[in-house]
Amino acid sequence: MQLPTGPEAVLVRYGELTLKGGNRLDFENALVRNVRHALAGVANTRFEREHARLFVFPEGRVEAVAQRLTRVFGISSVSPAWGVPNDVDTIVACARRVLDDALLEIPPGQTRRFRVLTRRSDKRFPMLSTELDRHVATAILKDGDPLEVDLDAPELVLGLEVRAERTWLFARRYPGAGGLPVGTLGRALCLISGGIDSPVAAWMTMKRGCEVSFVTFHSAPYIGEGARRKVVELVRVLGRWQRNARLYVVPFAPVQEALRDAGAEAYRTVLYRRMMQRIATRIAAFERASALVTGECLGQVASQTLENLTCIGAAAGLPVLRPLIGFDKQETIDRARTIGTLELSSVQEPDCCTLFLPRHPVLHGSITTCEEIEQRIDVAGLVEGALAGAERVVLDLDGSDATPAEVSAP
Ligand code: ATP
Ligand code: MG
Repeated sequence: MQLPTGPEAVLVRYGELTLKGGNRLDFENALVRNVRHALAGVANTRFEREHARLFVFPEGRVEAVAQRLTRVFGISSVSPAWGVPNDVDTIVACARRVLDDALLEIPPGQTRRFRVLTRRSDKRFPMLSTELDRHVATAILKDGDPLEVDLDAPELVLGLEVRAERTWLFARRYPGAGGLPVGTLGRALCLISGGIDSPVAAWMTMKRGCEVSFVTFHSAPYIGEGARRKVVELVRVLGRWQRNARLYVVPFAPVQEALRDAGAEAYRTVLYRRMMQRIATRIAAFERASALVTGECLGQVASQTLENLTCIGAAAGLPVLRPLIGFDKQETIDRARTIGTLELSSVQEPDCCTLFLPRHPVLHGSITTCEEIEQRIDVAGLVEGALAGAERVVLDLDGSDATPAEVSAP
């Protein structure tokens, strides 16, 4: 038997999915669909499902595929895995190779707590899991390895999975994104600005299994094309975490002009947001989304008091999810960095809400006052006008980082 010279498969672990009882099969099917989609650009990939595990055979591009899969929600971790026949001597020989590969990661002069850990789904295998652990560890460890056996708190685990056809070995383990497969918990529409917060809010919603579509409000000609482009780029990055990315760009200047002319300057920001909620509710119906998502947080800026959030939410026809409600700004920034949106969000572009900005925004707005001011404008007409002028941008990501096509549709 020739020993493998490198990993042949990516072992995918599901984590929380295994808790889903009766729905488990639906969740697994969705996960496999999303994984296939994420790897659509990788030719000749083969998939094998076994209980609570997925093996992906990407014909040589194991490392790249493993990295790509860390961006698929529902996966708890992945490992490049080496496959051998279920023969003890072959397992031992391959285990040393896997270990040598893992030792490359340990800086000179350092040591790691180490163990072998076997999972045995083929009960015909002649050794118990603990016996195989001990046998392999004893056989492969050499004097001079920077390792110290520690069964309870290992830092480096050489994993063995003994299955019906083969045994899989692995030592590298990359954490996955966690969460649930996108699409298993319905769809939501995220109100996205070019800021740091709303892209993170969209990501948190996707993470829990919701597919997210996007709407942004744009105030041409007061605000330039740069702000719109920035949002398109953000949606492109976020789209990589799910199967697609659809964005509605809504002209907002007429709404803002009407509210400027209606007076009540202090209420302007809250009233802008109420109009956004109304328009978003209509787009959500079109997108068959059952909730709205915003990047609002408590107390971060003057407009974000409980009273103001209540005024804003009251104009929505759907539940408004605010996944960042308990985050400090720094936590959001850190998350944006890992998602890959921070850099884009940090580019300075004016947001539509800076238009006709009130000098002293109301801190504790009341719904009654909002409604009184709205009597002075044609709410329904402005909503219809905004919808009529909305542009739909479809970023076809085809699961990989391929160049997306922008399509304008009615
Ligand atoms: P962000 O960083 O997402 O801009 P923020 O902390 O700056 O959030 P605001 O600017 O007050 O807060 O916006 C609150 C929320 O309102 C945003 O997170 C977003 O969901 C929504 N929003 C604001 N401006 C727009 C816009 N131009 N288009 C779509 N949604 C918007
Ligand atoms: Mg903002």
